[in-house]
Amino acid sequence: MSTCTPQPPLGLAELGASMYELVAELYPICRSITGDGVRQTLAVIQRHTPLTIHEVPSGTRVFDWTVPKEWNIRDAFIARTTGERLIDFKSSSLHVVNYSVAVKKRVSRDELLAHVHTLPEHPEWIPYRTSYYEESWGFCLSHKDSLNLTDDEYDVCIDASLEPGALTYGEAFLRGATSDEVLFTCHVCHPSLANDNLSGIAVLTFLARHLATRVRHYSYRFLFIPATIGAITWLARNEQRVNDIKHGLVVAGVGNAAPTTYKRSRRGNADIDRAVAHVLKHAGNDYDILDFFPYGYDERQFCSPGFDLPVGCLMRTPYSRYPEYHTSADNLEFVQPGALAGSLALCMSVVDVLEHNQTYRSRNPKCEPQLGRRGLYRTVGGRRDARVDELAVLWVLNLSDGTHTLLDIAEASQMAFHTIRNAAEALRAAHLLERCP
Ligand code: ZN
Repeated sequence: MSTCTPQPPLGLAELGASMYELVAELYPICRSITGDGVRQTLAVIQRHTPLTIHEVPSGTRVFDWTVPKEWNIRDAFIARTTGERLIDFKSSSLHVVNYSVAVKKRVSRDELLAHVHTLPEHPEWIPYRTSYYEESWGFCLSHKDSLNLTDDEYDVCIDASLEPGALTYGEAFLRGATSDEVLFTCHVCHPSLANDNLSGIAVLTFLARHLATRVRHYSYRFLFIPATIGAITWLARNEQRVNDIKHGLVVAGVGNAAPTTYKRSRRGNADIDRAVAHVLKHAGNDYDILDFFPYGYDERQFCSPGFDLPVGCLMRTPYSRYPEYHTSADNLEFVQPGALAGSLALCMSVVDVLEHNQTYRSRNPKCEPQLGRRGLYRTVGGRRDARVDELAVLWVLNLSDGTHTLLDIAEASQMAFHTIRNAAEALRAAHLLERCP
């Protein structure tokens, strides 16, 4: 796939800059699937959009899983026996294997190296590693730095705790005219990784802020959750209400300057799948659409067969398909304000389709109504409303038989949704169209 530089319309450039600032502010925080890093992150998001914070105690059963002990870290280092720190957690939260248990001891070089992870193929980069479900300890460092570990002994310290506590997640709910919901979710469990984690957080924070000011047909639910265990926990606690979810998107990895990739829901032809595909087709940029597969982000849980929710996944380069993925190179240079803005604009356009995807019935179905005298068709010497596309008017009139939605008509006509919607509104204003319940 070729790279492209998104060109956001006016206004979005400022939003892109604001989202980038949020990414930069959250970047240094050491997040994990539980702990104070998530709480700090949610507190920052709350400055932009109201959130309800949920705390689910360690040990809570959630389907086949158990909410784990809470992990917190204060400090960590590898030091020479003279006390000189060679690797310092304070310079990068990636330096410690996420969920490492505490350790403080003098170790031989060989023992240390058995607990060190590097990326020889990218000797300057620090890898991101986790050990959520196995109690162990480890350090991540650039391969270059690991080659300098030539002393016989080192002092290692990970000042961390793994104790009963809670899993924390944030939820924002915007009530609409109907209880039917659109779900947006992102993960908040990665430490200093800008695209995989913070880009999704920034786009959804600003999308929630935008939608809060709008008249809404749908209700909107935003989840800021740790990956996998957070989605499983939310689903276990909200099993009774998932039927309200009519459309949903997992948003992740949307900040790098690459074309958008959309991964369809398990259903494959849900309205969300069609709406995203339609918006991408008419946006004028390169894009890719993938069928569902049971790997990736939290669509794995929302699309598990017991739920099978209409939830797709919006990304730019898919997870693991870019070399910077899960390394220190997924940093503030990898994410770009214009890419964040383009992803936000895409989400807004998808919401626009969902909000206005009504079904109408022509009030004049027997032959075409006379459009010229209503200003809806070209007339010699007459006036014409140039804002309304004549062909779109004919498509809407013909297919508005009570069974086709505006998205159906947009797809059939190969025209952009907003063109079809404008035509429908003009026809309604001319009393030629009525909305079906
Ligand atoms: Zn990840």
